[in-house]
Amino acid sequence: MLHIGCHLSAAKGFLNMGKEAQSIGADTFQFFTRNPRGGAAKEISDEDVVAFLDFHAQHHFTTLLAHAPYTINPCSDNSQTREFAEMAMVDDLKRMEYIPNNLYNFHPGSHVGQGVEKAIDLIADLLNRVLKPEMTTTVLLETMSGKGSEVGSRFEELRTIIDKVELSEKMGVCLDTCHVYSAGYDIVNQLDDVLEEFDKILGLSRLKAIHLNDSMMPFASHKDRHEKIGQGTIGAEAIIRFINHPKLKNLPFLLETPNELDGYAEEIRFLRTHFQV
Ligand code: FE
Ligand code: FE
Ligand code: ZN
Repeated sequence: MLHIGCHLSAAKGFLNMGKEAQSIGADTFQFFTRNPRGGAAKEISDEDVVAFLDFHAQHHFTTLLAHAPYTINPCSDNSQTREFAEMAMVDDLKRMEYIPNNLYNFHPGSHVGQGVEKAIDLIADLLNRVLKPEMTTTVLLETMSGKGSEVGSRFEELRTIIDKVELSEKMGVCLDTCHVYSAGYDIVNQLDDVLEEFDKILGLSRLKAIHLNDSMMPFASHKDRHEKIGQGTIGAEAIIRFINHPKLKNLPFLLETPNELDGYAEEIRFLRTHFQV
């Protein structure tokens, strides 16, 4: 069975996200842990969580993906910016324990001129302060397009971060199809080679989730512009091959395409139709 969902607004709480997901044929979803621009987190209601966990089990939902605000920069050259990233992650991870055993994804950040090595040290140091043995959440590094001074557009960079994390068993990777294609991994013509490289460098067992997006930008452009499934430079055929790949087909796929709910519903229907059980 294809495990698929999309990004949903967390404004109305967990149970509402669950119901919204179910209404579009999804069995998972992604949500921002707080205002995507980095603001305050919404209060979590125990009642909502209890009702949602029940809903999640009853409707056989799979693993959920929380996304950290995309403006936090754990490897900034500004200590206050780094402290804010750390504060947000500490708080987010505490909140994740309300819905145990799920995934928390973040962008490694931008080195803003300090260089990749320094940035990797800052990211790993931060993770070594915020990860705790008792946490049930798996923390994911997202593969990035490499725009500007973004860290994480090469599998090797993600590997180096993970190697420096003491509780590395709590770490995984979320592969974004738009980002890797922009970063120069040819998932359209050489998917097997890309997955082999991922396996060699990171280990496929680290791959915990997929951001399934088409791209507005050409291969290896190092630009990050998501497109609707089938309307971009990756294209429907490659995306269908991707979701059916034996090494990928059991993962949760999360759409981050430029859509409203009805557009997501249509993409989910389309992908389910083209999924070979
Ligand atoms: Fe992201
Ligand atoms: Fe993404
Ligand atoms: Zn993106």
